[in-house]
Amino acid sequence: MLRIENLAKQYRTGDRALQGVSFTVEAGQVVGLIGPSGAGKSTLIRCVNRLVEPTSGKILLGDRDIATASRSELRRIRRRIGMIFQEYALVERLTVMENVLSGRLGYVPFWRSFSRRFPQDDVDKAFALLGRVGLTDHADKRADALSGGQRQRVGIARALEQDPELLLIDEPTASLDPKTSRQIMRLIGEICRERNLPAIINIHDVVLAQMFVDRIIGLRAGEVVFDGAPDTLDNDALTAIYGEEDWTQMRRERDDDAEEEEEARAQEERMAGLA
Ligand code: ADP
Repeated sequence: MLRIENLAKQYRTGDRALQGVSFTVEAGQVVGLIGPSGAGKSTLIRCVNRLVEPTSGKILLGDRDIATASRSELRRIRRRIGMIFQEYALVERLTVMENVLSGRLGYVPFWRSFSRRFPQDDVDKAFALLGRVGLTDHADKRADALSGGQRQRVGIARALEQDPELLLIDEPTASLDPKTSRQIMRLIGEICRERNLPAIINIHDVVLAQMFVDRIIGLRAGEVVFDGAPDTLDNDALTAIYGEEDWTQMRRERDDDAEEEEEARAQEERMAGLA
């Protein structure tokens, strides 16, 4: 379980990126973090793993306060936080298997990681995880030979290889097509439930968030302005998060997308009728 209490971040420039942010993420719960650009989503995710130093407040993972952890404590805590990034951050010239095993680098002695020799247990676990994310047949391929969706699956397996207590996921679908995005979001949700893992996903696609997360937290100007179940995210809530103008624009784009999809489907049906 992750508990954030009264978290605030003011950058040296004076920007108040977060203020009075409090919420709890239960084990197995996937939280989608939404909000307009500059709302503080990245700052929040980065405070949780202390890539950004919080100004005040608590970030409790179990009974440890990440916000005030010493350097050595922080190293231990970070091993328990799995990160999944938009850009996948894979090592291109290494194989899929080696990339997954690199999730263990914080644990294995330096000489072993350097010679890329990992304990058999870690290798077995990596194989099982590759099976779970549907990449068993790709274990020996180089990372740079994979598609975007496959790369994100490697990213997920790598984060799980370190036995995390929490997943932080930053824009996991930003470079993926709509169908692959849905597959990746579904996989993340399933895995969190199976492993009872809490997760925070920074996601700009509201529709996708509504389809696949358990709960949505909406940030605006550094404050939580919505916190609830996806099906309670109505027009008023979206206006509170994005403001009238931006939300109207988003709605228009969303309606356009829906219309396009409808048209494509009708076209397919006409073609099928002709055949
Ligand atoms: P989001 O991820 O929702 O787009 P950010 O967390 O990146 O929002 O930014 C929140 C606010 O903090 C913005 O006003 C942004 O300009 C400011 N900010 C972000 N990073 C820094 C930084 N390194 N230094 C100063 N201000 C920053």
